[in-house]
Amino acid sequence: MTIAGQLQKIHQQMTAAAEKCGRNPAEIALLAVSKTVTVDKIREATAAGQRIFGENYLQEAEEKYRQLAGLAKLHCIGHIQSNKAKIAATIFSMVQTIDREKIAHELNKHRQAIGKPLDALVQVNIAGEEQKSGVKPENCESLLRMIQELPWLRLTGLMTIPPYSVNPEDSRPFFRELRQLANKLAAKNLFAGPRVELSMGMSGDFAVAIEEGATIIRVGTAIFGEG
Ligand SMILES: *Cc1c(COP(=O)(O)O)cnc(C)c1O
Repeated sequence: MTIAGQLQKIHQQMTAAAEKCGRNPAEIALLAVSKTVTVDKIREATAAGQRIFGENYLQEAEEKYRQLAGLAKLHCIGHIQSNKAKIAATIFSMVQTIDREKIAHELNKHRQAIGKPLDALVQVNIAGEEQKSGVKPENCESLLRMIQELPWLRLTGLMTIPPYSVNPEDSRPFFRELRQLANKLAAKNLFAGPRVELSMGMSGDFAVAIEEGATIIRVGTAIFGEG
């Protein structure tokens, strides 16, 4: 199937999942994950109406940012080293992977030069996996309180990657936990706006994520195929 065809199919599945649980499909955004995907394929997706793309690697994202020149917005969904914060603050419209004070400070500092706050999410290691990035749930509140003091970061929600499983239902408890954590933090007014973003769900489990409250789903292979 073409990229346009895949996108259409995913939008249909998103609508079905939203309607199944009484949510408005319009409040759920599709982030097309384009790591290792060529600029030509990204252009093909933009021609089909897709506007936001997720990138994991700074060097690759920087090159694509230049080639796409305003055609697309890029979200960072990979780990950022502190020495790359300046590039990240320049090329991304949202960074979804803030997981420590240092990177928050660096992004804030470099975003000042652009004069427009950077939308940001805190990445939560919801299952406490040893090898995974993300702040532990119990340390989330103090990180959010610190980010609140940074004028050039606009922290709007949380992001997570649950443990990999072939069964999408295995992700459900982790999605639910992220939503409950976000609700708790929202009650303490720790997000920048009234609308709290939950970035969760990938090709295999986005329907479950939508049922659990996702507002951004991150889909790669279901759009672009296997690398
Ligand atoms: C690669 C990636 C995705 C997309 O995964 P698919 O299974 O290809 O949809 C989503 N989120 C993150 C953080 C990723 O690295």
